[in-house]
Amino acid sequence: MTVATLPGLEPAPTPAAPPRPGSRAARMALPRSVDVLKEIAAEYGVCVRPLAMRRTDLNTGLTEVIDLPCGATREDKCGPCARKNRRLRQAQIREGWHRDDEPLPPPEPATEEQKALVLLRGHLEFSRDEASRASQWDQVDDLDEAIREVEEAITAEGLRGRVAPPHSTGDDDQGDEDTGRRRKRSTRRRQDAPDLPRRKVERRTVGRTYTAPDGTAYRPSMWLTLTLDSYGPVRPDGTPLNPDRYDYRRAAWDAVYFPRLLDRFWQNLRRCEGWNVQYAGCVEPQRRLAPHAHFAIRGTIPRDVLRTVAAATYHQVWWPSVDAQRYTLDRLPAWNEQASAWVDPDTHAPLTTWTEALDAIDADPDAEPVHVVRFGSQVDARGVMPGTDDAERTIRYVTKYITKHTGDVHKITSIRQRAHLDRLWQELQITPCTERCANWLLYGIQPRKANAKLKPGRCKGKVHQRDTLGIGGRRILISRDWSGKTLSDHKHDVRAWVRALLGVTVGLDSVDDQGATVEPVRHAWELARPDDPDVGPLAHRLLRAIGERARWRSELLAAKDRAAQLSDTATKTGTNGTTGEGL
Ligand SMILES: [Zn+2]
Ligand SMILES: [Zn+2]
Repeated sequence: MTVATLPGLEPAPTPAAPPRPGSRAARMALPRSVDVLKEIAAEYGVCVRPLAMRRTDLNTGLTEVIDLPCGATREDKCGPCARKNRRLRQAQIREGWHRDDEPLPPPEPATEEQKALVLLRGHLEFSRDEASRASQWDQVDDLDEAIREVEEAITAEGLRGRVAPPHSTGDDDQGDEDTGRRRKRSTRRRQDAPDLPRRKVERRTVGRTYTAPDGTAYRPSMWLTLTLDSYGPVRPDGTPLNPDRYDYRRAAWDAVYFPRLLDRFWQNLRRCEGWNVQYAGCVEPQRRLAPHAHFAIRGTIPRDVLRTVAAATYHQVWWPSVDAQRYTLDRLPAWNEQASAWVDPDTHAPLTTWTEALDAIDADPDAEPVHVVRFGSQVDARGVMPGTDDAERTIRYVTKYITKHTGDVHKITSIRQRAHLDRLWQELQITPCTERCANWLLYGIQPRKANAKLKPGRCKGKVHQRDTLGIGGRRILISRDWSGKTLSDHKHDVRAWVRALLGVTVGLDSVDDQGATVEPVRHAWELARPDDPDVGPLAHRLLRAIGERARWRSELLAAKDRAAQLSDTATKTGTNGTTGEGL
């Protein structure tokens, strides 16, 4: 319905008038071809930031430029590679979650040769000890040489790891004293053991199977969410009701130590349950910007056990006190070259060293940890049946945000949300990240291995950066015996591959079509420079890659069609043809 234009009023602007052909507006309305190119590249899964590698055949001197995918894990760097990485993670989680066999079978028994070598190594150790007591140092040297040879043979015979640490030469006493002192210190500042039942941990990593009366076997698994404590009531948009009463300090320290708390949780859970529980999960920020963690767990664990272990788990940080910030960015300690120490800007007195600060904690019988991190009371756990939509949905949920930076998971839209983030960031900037963090200087303490290069209050550590929200480490956490593979086993790690390629390699195509062995092709690999004449503009390389991918796709579709037709004919005529397998 159109409203009649009243006399004296401007007519409403006609919205759908197309811009004059040839005008700037008309030109701007056309999609940019470079954007379309990137869009199509993404659609075809073609890396948009390929790495050009030059391969030279050392026999013929023929040179070829080969594009390798960049392998980025974040979407803002390269969408296709990030999504490919996510698919690999999903495959990894799927593969480990409901498996009913041990991913890593126990090692094979040692062979007679291997045992004989270890025995020989034992004889040599005995002789070395005798020679060393008798101060026959030339013999000790000979024996060390023999030990080295036997150890090489042990490795060559296929035994993993070293049979024993090497004999140290030189100032042994120094080393002993050092470790002795460290041991004494660590007992004083040890973690208190949580109040939980303890069982011996079996090697088993798979959960129990349940059999229904009709004989069907069920192997349910679990889904667990662990959250941190409350720092004050928040609104639905994640911002505190009362910013002045919100405990930003605890929120910052908790975020930084969350990974340690999770490690403790798994350790405690395994001891309490008595088997080697496996998990795959992620750490994500909640809307209130505190981290929480979701985990797929293999097998089932009673919910109240999970709750009890979560409630009993904590991590203590035995560090110097940060109650009083003695320096600020406008008045900072200074490095004194002569004293080789950080000193007070006014009195020039050296600040407490790291060792002094720790010794003070050791000497104080009433010392308390500077921070204790615990989970909040909210522990969500539920069973998930393998092969269901629920299981797939959950896997997608775990990997939903892994292509994004922590800070980009939740859109900050309001001034209130921005202010909340800024207050948390302010606290994260002055939270010490490690023993060597330059921010210790703000509290009048020289960090471990203090040197002139430190920038007090401006540590470059990840947790201090605004967009990490204090979640500085890995966000995908997968236990070692989850799928028995690392992600680089699941995919060929691109960067490692590139590094391995640099130099000279021998081609795998050393067998020709007839099966006869031919001269292996030796290749030299190097990174091509973007301005090399044969590398070509990025657009050309993307177009070529898209064209190639499109051709594969249509060939694959055609092959599938042919296979489907064959299988149709086979079903009709009753013959049992091979149908499209391996496509
Ligand atoms: Zn890429
Ligand atoms: Zn730091």
